[in-house]
Amino acid sequence: MPHYVPHFEFTEPALALREFNYEHWCEHGHGPNLRDVHHKLGFDRREILQLYKELALGIVCTVDPDSMNCPVLRFQPFASFPTQVRAYVEDEFHSYAGCSMEAVAFSNMPPFKDRECRLESYCMCCLEPISFTSLNGQVVEADPLLLHVSTSPYDWFNNDLMIQCDSMNFVIDEDHAERFEKEVCRRGVVYTLDQALTFVSNSVGERMWTRNRPSERMDPAAVIEYVATLGVDVTNWGGTP
Ligand SMILES: [Zn+2]
Repeated sequence: MPHYVPHFEFTEPALALREFNYEHWCEHGHGPNLRDVHHKLGFDRREILQLYKELALGIVCTVDPDSMNCPVLRFQPFASFPTQVRAYVEDEFHSYAGCSMEAVAFSNMPPFKDRECRLESYCMCCLEPISFTSLNGQVVEADPLLLHVSTSPYDWFNNDLMIQCDSMNFVIDEDHAERFEKEVCRRGVVYTLDQALTFVSNSVGERMWTRNRPSERMDPAAVIEYVATLGVDVTNWGGTP
């Protein structure tokens, strides 16, 4: 359970692999396969798998280390499969964003600088469309929306980001949030778009901008405390520690 892992410096090969993934994802809308990595960076198969595990421990990506070829499922802010958020760059479909929270930070990636990004999603209770556009990490216009998080930070990143990202969804308003909660038999914590923007900007603002950025760290109590300072009602996470 990788909670409380102290911040650590990634090795140089891991930094190179992270940089190459960001470039590849931004350019092509999907990640590189093992041969692409080998061709670009010269690492052999076993080295690549170990480097992905190093990046996963530092919350850069989510891999399936028990599968023989260690597929990369998520490389934040991107996902390798159809998620609840489609990302368009300058009106062209680019990729699937990892989740609603990742979508908010999507346009901040350096290759998308000064290019309008449109994130298309839907209300998780009724599947009515919800979209917003953003530029350089700032929201330009948005449909009415809230971000609903139906897991506690104490259950984030227990193993990887699959359950955490899956639980971060858009809803139209408080009524739709409540309907969704009844449907899935869960309570949740609800962010406005502005609160979500501040939340993700702080943790991912440097993504790809700073090559040697160290690992991220999962400390549930610190997350709840921070989210409360944004004005988010964290009662359904048990309140502040
Ligand atoms: Zn709805």
